[in-house]
Amino acid sequence: MNTLAGKIAIITGASSGIGAATAIKFSQLGATLCITGRNADNLKSVAEKCSNGSGNTVPPLIVQGDLTNDTDTRGVVDSTIQRFGRLDVLVNNAGILELGDIENTSMEQYDRLMNTNIRSMYQLTMLATPHLINTKGNIVNVSSVNGIRAFPGVLAYCVSKAAVDQFTRCVALELASKQVRVNSVNPGVVVTELQKRGGLSEDVYAQFLERSKQTHALGRPGEDWEVAEAITFLASENTASFITGTTLSVDGGR
Ligand code: NDP
Repeated sequence: MNTLAGKIAIITGASSGIGAATAIKFSQLGATLCITGRNADNLKSVAEKCSNGSGNTVPPLIVQGDLTNDTDTRGVVDSTIQRFGRLDVLVNNAGILELGDIENTSMEQYDRLMNTNIRSMYQLTMLATPHLINTKGNIVNVSSVNGIRAFPGVLAYCVSKAAVDQFTRCVALELASKQVRVNSVNPGVVVTELQKRGGLSEDVYAQFLERSKQTHALGRPGEDWEVAEAITFLASENTASFITGTTLSVDGGR
């Protein structure tokens, strides 16, 4: 039985998409949550869904903030420890997409992407590590198929996700002796706001989703809950207690 009962978890980027689906799933399995993002209204609405009919009666702690800001990032871990006294699971999910190839990605785009997708993950993990050592907890990072394979036109995004995978493997080795597990999931195309927020127009996004039916062996893009299930599997001690340093593809068999 897959359960997170009694666990305290931080989920970044929980205001939409994969992070929101993960927060709802974790709640259903009894975890107590700190959920983060910049959009306070969205976080509130996710928190309400987490509280409704979940396996946990403790409402999620909402920490609104920008993870590219060091003070905000520090606040996520500090507030969680202050409120709940411990930390068992860190889900580093927050991320953005920037379109651009080697000839036309600006350094401003590059910095924004790296600061969001890998620097904040590095900092949050560093801050969470002493607490995760105390609880023999675990970390799940959300990477992408773009971390494994090369795709044109999203260069900085691919580089950031390759960094997430190597970060996962290295930190997993560093923390294994302390019984802290570190894994990542590598989703294929998943229907969320990511690509549109990254600059794809409605039309181009529709074509992109259509194309994903050919590029994914299962003939369709993924859903946010399907990635949430994989994250839950890796975060649960009773399903993944002997798994660390792995990058799990959730990509429809591409
Ligand atoms: P969404 O855009 O729906 O969610 C992204 C989340 O990240 C939001 O909750 C957003 O919150 C948060 N976020 C972004 N920037 C910041 C920031 N500076 N500070 C704090 N929070 C931030 O997209 P997805 O759910 O798809 O993305 C989740 C993860 O999944 C990402 O890491 C993405 O790279 C990865 N992924 C997604 C795929 C897809 O096809 N959708 C495929 C492969 C990987 P807010 O706006 O409130 O700040």
